[in-house]
Amino acid sequence: MKVMIIGGGPAGVSAGLYTLRAGIETTIITNNKSALLKAEKIDNYYGFAEGISGEELYTNGLEGFKRLGGRVIEAEVTGAGYDEGFTLSTDKGEYGADVLVLANGASRKTPDIRGLKEFEGRGVSYCAVCDAFFYRGKRVAVIGNGEYALHEAHILEKTSSEVIILTDGKKAPAYENCDGRKIKAIEGGEGVERVVFEDGESAEISGIFVAIGTAGASDIAVKLGALTDGRYVKTDENMLTSIPGLYAVGDCAGGLMQVAKAVCDGAKAGVDIVRRGKQ
Ligand SMILES: Cc1cc2nc3c(=O)[nH]c(=O)nc-3n(C[C@H](O)[C@H](O)[C@H](O)COP(=O)(O)OP(=O)(O)OC[C@H]3O[C@@H](n4cnc5c(N)ncnc54)[C@H](O)[C@@H]3O)c2cc1C
Repeated sequence: MKVMIIGGGPAGVSAGLYTLRAGIETTIITNNKSALLKAEKIDNYYGFAEGISGEELYTNGLEGFKRLGGRVIEAEVTGAGYDEGFTLSTDKGEYGADVLVLANGASRKTPDIRGLKEFEGRGVSYCAVCDAFFYRGKRVAVIGNGEYALHEAHILEKTSSEVIILTDGKKAPAYENCDGRKIKAIEGGEGVERVVFEDGESAEISGIFVAIGTAGASDIAVKLGALTDGRYVKTDENMLTSIPGLYAVGDCAGGLMQVAKAVCDGAKAGVDIVRRGKQ
């Protein structure tokens, strides 16, 4: 059995410590953007009399995982699929696993653009692989400027008449059809009809795909068909999602956004993976 964990923060590492110690091949994929790296000092976690910096806790976690034989791949996950096993697309290639643990924090970013929330589900989507079908032969836009935006654009190219990446004032990625103007609003009637830019001009667009930053856990869960509750992934008491073999732990599973809870979630998932592996 191969376990793949997306995320090298406390939740992902904790799950991996349990699977490694049971002799299960375990790999963490991380792009090193843990919430811990923004925490100057953690003063409320067990065992550190003087507190510990978020960065040190993060680094120590991954070092402990490696010491037990865990493999760490530094890459950014952009997509996921399932076909007799999980497949992850990353900026460094594809990886497969029998069990997948989502431990990639709560990172979904939504830009503050007028009309975006209003048109969610009516022209604004967060998943190209799920919704590209609805925009066959139409002109669509991806909002974002990183690897994730590129990944979503390439999926949409297969079905849409034209795909344009809107960077909303950010640096353009390596894509032939980009527009870097700041976005003012998304407008339409029953569905999205146009994007209005801050310079007053507008572009006729039928579908908007939001892909800002990196793919969050709920984005990946949705691609795999798992149930989510807004930006959080739904799980049972063992952190198993609605898809067999797919777990979600830590901040991405919602609830208390703290290291202690992330570690606990990871432990529950790790124990459950080991238990099921023995059955
Ligand atoms: C400023 C700040 C201060 C905080 N202070 C405290 C505190 O004092 N005490 C406390 O208990 N908690 C604190 N927290 C909260 C704590 O940091 C989080 O609850 C905890 O880190 C959650 O762990 P996690 O493993 O779920 O996610 P994270 O630690 O966020 O780790 C997510 C992992 O997923 C990876 N990742 C994400 N997306 C991708 C992708 N697409 N591809 C590859 N890898 C990906 C990231 O690189 C990272 O390794 C603080 C948070 C912040 C932001």
